[in-house]
Amino acid sequence: MFEKVLIANRGEIAVRLIRACQEMGIRTVAVYSEADAQALHTALADEAVLIGPPAPGQSYLRGNTIIQAAVERGCQAIHPGYGFLSENADFAAAVRKAGLVFIGPTPEAMRAMGSKTAARAAMRTAGVPMVPGYQESTADADLLAAADSLGFPLLVKAAAGGGGKGMRIVARPQDLADALQSARREAQNAFGDDRIYLEKYLAEPRHVEFQVMGDQHGNVVHLFERECSVQRRHQKIIEETPSPVLTPALRAAMGAAAVQAARAVNYTNAGTIEFLVDRERNFYFLEMNTRLQVEHPITEAVTGIDLVKAQLLVAAGEPLPFSQAQITQRGHAIECRIYAEDPANHFLPSIGKVLRAVEPVGPGVRVDAGISTGAEVMLHYDPMMAKLIVWGQNRADALGKMAWALEHYIVLGVTTNIPFLLAVIQHPVFQAGEATTHFVEEHFADWQPAYDPVPDEALIAAALSDLLEGQAVVGASSPSAAAPTGDPFNPWRQADHFRLGRSR
Ligand code: ADP
Repeated sequence: MFEKVLIANRGEIAVRLIRACQEMGIRTVAVYSEADAQALHTALADEAVLIGPPAPGQSYLRGNTIIQAAVERGCQAIHPGYGFLSENADFAAAVRKAGLVFIGPTPEAMRAMGSKTAARAAMRTAGVPMVPGYQESTADADLLAAADSLGFPLLVKAAAGGGGKGMRIVARPQDLADALQSARREAQNAFGDDRIYLEKYLAEPRHVEFQVMGDQHGNVVHLFERECSVQRRHQKIIEETPSPVLTPALRAAMGAAAVQAARAVNYTNAGTIEFLVDRERNFYFLEMNTRLQVEHPITEAVTGIDLVKAQLLVAAGEPLPFSQAQITQRGHAIECRIYAEDPANHFLPSIGKVLRAVEPVGPGVRVDAGISTGAEVMLHYDPMMAKLIVWGQNRADALGKMAWALEHYIVLGVTTNIPFLLAVIQHPVFQAGEATTHFVEEHFADWQPAYDPVPDEALIAAALSDLLEGQAVVGASSPSAAAPTGDPFNPWRQADHFRLGRSR
């Protein structure tokens, strides 16, 4: 096993990776930008290396600087987390060339799955069901001709796509030519690659993905599904497992297809096969994410498997420590992504200092936080503060626990989506397990909070408390902020008066 690993990321995922390494007796080296000198991940790692100014292009995306830091500090491996360099095959290849281990798939597998059209070709060969579509073409005339046989509505997609960029829904034939042009332009700007292709637009689909894991000895398993249909702007905000829409037979078929897909590209380490499921419960391959996903903790909750530890084992050349038959789903898990953003105002990020964050504590409640008391929500980075994960005996139990946890998650200083998440999970459609990918836009387009989640008294109390502590605001690395929120001596645990003015 590795003795020292460099964590090439920041925020909650860096903290989570450091924690797994610590539990395995592995030393860690964090990298940080000038904006993250006080960040939790910088403080928690055994060593920390400054890699540049706040802008990701000058710090967390500088592969060569990061590799150099890993070599100089005597690391044997680099974990990229998600985002930043995690799906960059050139970076993975450079890590290998430097004599280090990239904790993730091989650059070859990343390339095979990196482009959506290359992935579609590989999946077609492997016999994995796919959304009907037409291959990429540089000639618009080909695409216009193909559209007729495909039928409308259809979706124009960028081959290099991600984050919903370069994607256009086209309802009528006469709108296609314009959509092709604008999708190409957007794809060129976002990815430096203007290749586009066509896909049938499925009505009211569910997004269901399968976690897969492979080792270097030819073993590939799946760890069941995650339902991720609740999205805003094609980005997930709530995930759960098991999916309310899968029957045991469908689950078995999709699990087998996911393993087949991973095998087709000799996949090693953790990855995710994304599918869409239509109203008739047909499933179609959407894309593969060649990294650890944000929503991996719900899989950990129901399978009892620590995915990051498994990633470390596999990367070190060990066989998977579990067989397919040993992996089972127990109970139900839900994750809510806590964002510093304003759902009542186009989900715009809420930038600023977090005066207080009081995270819920209880059995079956897990909070993976990157931004907590004293930390800053910055324009440079993703405004996700934390992931709130609950586990229950069954779906009803998990839903009740999530409502409780959201009501007891208090954030002062920035606007968060917590009241919005609560409204979503209490909505009858979500409660019935019937939310599709259109759920948020259909039911929450004009949503306004029913209560003010931050009463004035709470802000005054936070300001007073800071005065009493003799400092303006505690930094994320100060002992009081780093203390676990379950600490019974933390006065904010007893802050029930914050909740008095709140109603459901
Ligand atoms: P990106 O990589 O840009 O995020 P994806 O291909 O992963 O794009 O799709 C993101 C989301 O867009 C899906 O979860 C789904 O909500 C919607 N979507 C994608 N393809 C289709 C399709 N063919 N029909 C209907 N909705 C789709």
